[in-house]
Amino acid sequence: MKHLDIREVLNKQELRGQTAVVCGWVRTFRESAQVAFLELSDGTSFQKLQVVIEKGSLAFDPECTKLGASVAVKGVVVQAYKGEGNELNATEISLLGKCPPEYPIQKKRTTLEFLRTVPHLRLRTNTFAAVFRVRSVAAQAIHRYFHEHGYYYINAPLITASDCEGAGEMFRVTTQPWNASYKTEEEYYKNDFFGVKAGLSVSGQLEGEVAATALGKIYTFGPSFRAENSNTTRHLAEFWHVEPEVAFAELPDVIEIAEDLLKYLIGAVLEECPDELRFFDSFVEKGLIEKLRHVVASDFAVCPYTEAIGILQKENARFQFPVEWGSDLQSEHERYLTEQVFKRPVFVTDYPKEIKSFYMKQNADGRTVAATDLLVPGIGEIIGGSEREADPQKLRAAMEERKMDLSAYRQYLDLRTFGTVPHGGFGLGFERFVMYCTGMENIRDVTLFPRSSKNIM
Ligand code: ATP
Ligand code: MN
Repeated sequence: MKHLDIREVLNKQELRGQTAVVCGWVRTFRESAQVAFLELSDGTSFQKLQVVIEKGSLAFDPECTKLGASVAVKGVVVQAYKGEGNELNATEISLLGKCPPEYPIQKKRTTLEFLRTVPHLRLRTNTFAAVFRVRSVAAQAIHRYFHEHGYYYINAPLITASDCEGAGEMFRVTTQPWNASYKTEEEYYKNDFFGVKAGLSVSGQLEGEVAATALGKIYTFGPSFRAENSNTTRHLAEFWHVEPEVAFAELPDVIEIAEDLLKYLIGAVLEECPDELRFFDSFVEKGLIEKLRHVVASDFAVCPYTEAIGILQKENARFQFPVEWGSDLQSEHERYLTEQVFKRPVFVTDYPKEIKSFYMKQNADGRTVAATDLLVPGIGEIIGGSEREADPQKLRAAMEERKMDLSAYRQYLDLRTFGTVPHGGFGLGFERFVMYCTGMENIRDVTLFPRSSKNIM
């Protein structure tokens, strides 16, 4: 159907005086004695288009005025009576699809909890449409950043036979039902599709390292799967993962790249989504725009884990889980550090090796690894990264300590045997980034169809 996007009709001065056709869904309808106003949204902009109908000047189906109905309107573009944009003086209104009154997206019932029960319709609200426009802008900015900085975009497999790090967190991929005639697990998997136990990848990192140790700078951007049973507001079973991996990069380089990327992405959202951010600032998180501007303008903090534990221990009374050296940081500790102590994003570095993954570079102290998590206010961990262990002996030793099956990692070890180089990278949780930019507090509200334990609507 030949028509113009509402975004264009609203903003283009040169359209004034011309006839245009727009299509969209009815958001409001008001009328007085002489005129009626139909507000339309087609998803292309935060702002709605006001259609002005001079009463008696044209006949149309009354269904065209119902909340949620879809219509096509022909009219003359004129400067809006109020504000700077344009509006449309209707000459023809036709119904595309009527919308009965049981339409779930009513003005009054729209709590976020209720909207989670209608995931297929909630994008018709201001809030969700704005979230998904921001999400799209951020995704484009990710590709742009890496492309502009000489990274190659790699697609890592989603089905894998190696459990990168998350023992027990991996979803299995199988085509066969359990059959009691198998005596052992091995025998069972031998008869399965791949002939071995296979699962959905929790991270593209190991394959990313393969590409980085040939192409130099690469990134993956795709889904990761984790069978997390923790029902938190920050975890999904299926999330999108941005994972750059860089040859010849050491931990300080990894930190620099992460900070630069994050600032670039926030800058892109500030620039490309001003209407959305103003809305989130008013109705979701007061001060959001100021927060984002401040993050772009200031340096992130860096704090070694050992120092962070020193800071947290003095406050142990306030925590549900008191910390000591060697503890994994819980969300409450992460948020205390970034919100109360540093009051800005902070990279915590050099964690005890016992609480981190086998592939992280072992520091000279023998106790810690060159890892870093970036913690941000309101969310906690948004990025996890490290320099990788490049020394084949040390890597083997770390794997043996963890009783890993080395034969399953022959390719990974080969990267160290043949021309090993220092390298590193990180994983950014894309949904957590969208939460950070919009102020949305539940990861289920920045994902089209969120998947979590007992929830696959
Ligand atoms: P957390 O401690 O929050 O569970 P993690 O340490 O398991 O995260 P990493 O393995 O370091 O996470 O993954 C890198 C990034 O991916 C995290 O910093 C986070 O932003 C994101 N992420 C990890 N797990 C999930 C999940 N289940 N749902 C959404 N995002 C996730
Ligand atoms: Mn992590």
